[in-house]
Amino acid sequence: MGINFNRPTVLGTEEAYLKKVLEKQKLSGDAEFTQKCHEWFEIQMNCPKSLLTTSCSTALDMSAILSEIEPGDEVIMSSFTFVTTANSFVLRGAKVVFVDIRPDTMNLNEELIEEAITEKTKVIVPMHYAGVACEMDTIQTIAQKHGLMIVEDAAQAVMSKYKGKYLGTIGDLATYSFHETKNYTCGEGGLLMINNEQLIERAEIVREKGTDRSKFFRGEIDKYSWVDIGSSYLPSELNAAYLYAQLQKAEEILNDRLKTWDLYHEGLKALEAKGKIELPHIPKECQHNGHLFYIKVEDIDERSEIIEFLKLRDIHSVFHYVPLHSSKAGKKYSRFVGRDKYTTKDSNRLIRLPLYYKMREEDVEYVIDNIAQFFE
Ligand SMILES: *Cc1c(COP(=O)(O)O)cnc(C)c1O
Repeated sequence: MGINFNRPTVLGTEEAYLKKVLEKQKLSGDAEFTQKCHEWFEIQMNCPKSLLTTSCSTALDMSAILSEIEPGDEVIMSSFTFVTTANSFVLRGAKVVFVDIRPDTMNLNEELIEEAITEKTKVIVPMHYAGVACEMDTIQTIAQKHGLMIVEDAAQAVMSKYKGKYLGTIGDLATYSFHETKNYTCGEGGLLMINNEQLIERAEIVREKGTDRSKFFRGEIDKYSWVDIGSSYLPSELNAAYLYAQLQKAEEILNDRLKTWDLYHEGLKALEAKGKIELPHIPKECQHNGHLFYIKVEDIDERSEIIEFLKLRDIHSVFHYVPLHSSKAGKKYSRFVGRDKYTTKDSNRLIRLPLYYKMREEDVEYVIDNIAQFFE
């Protein structure tokens, strides 16, 4: 049996919608279910425009195009992030500039952004780790002061909030992921949120291979043609149909994950009090979405031991990002400004525990008990 690290969310309601798409024989993008997903996000999140994409990575690719990155431009983010947060901008010729993280949330440290800004800086990319918000008020103030754009990598943060606002609705642009490891899924999929209304028209064009086909379909023009750069970023209706079933149960999925997250937090508090581990910190401005639960231990050796210890008891726990600045491509395409005080140290100490929709309470207890045993 064993306890997996992740199980993709399957509600059972997806199948009927998939059947509907097959019956209609309309499988390519932007039909009924894609529209339903767009409406859902625009109403639920109060966002002016959302566009489904084939992944969060391609939504980030679109963001790099829409922020008009040119070779030599600089983009600021933390090094503790997924590879495409950086790669999408590198593809447009940008240099990635990393600053250190805050150890309490593992998010980029907003206090270090200003010293990394140069004449070439164009975009700040806050990635909300574990669905916990970056310090967005400070980041917005800095962006406004220096005339920079904000692209939120909110891949992990669907349904999370910062000061009552949904993550993904704060930056000029924001991206979500519906990969099977994320809270809401369709296997592979993503979404671009366009909060800066001046970018809406171009976003539709870039997503439709650089053509004004979206306008044509709405009957606003009588033929469509090639007007800009772009590619095919729209997912199949099958993906949209699967996703829509999950969006309809968004609150239920959220609450279920939060319940598991709270069980872990409660059950591991004693070990934290004894100084054996550190638990995630949720700043009071933030409402998270139970995307993942991590603990931090002493160092990388202790981490390897505990992962092995849990594996022998059929529990699958995993570490997370290897800091991008230490990677082969990172050395070529990026630079790290300031001291790496926490990025390497804390990423080496972090372990993610199993957490998925409908995880059984006794399985959570089993994981907690085994972690406690390890430290005995
Ligand atoms: C999952 C993830 C991505 C990539 O998502 P895909 O949909 O698989 O492309 C990007 N950034 C972060 C922070 C992620 O967690």
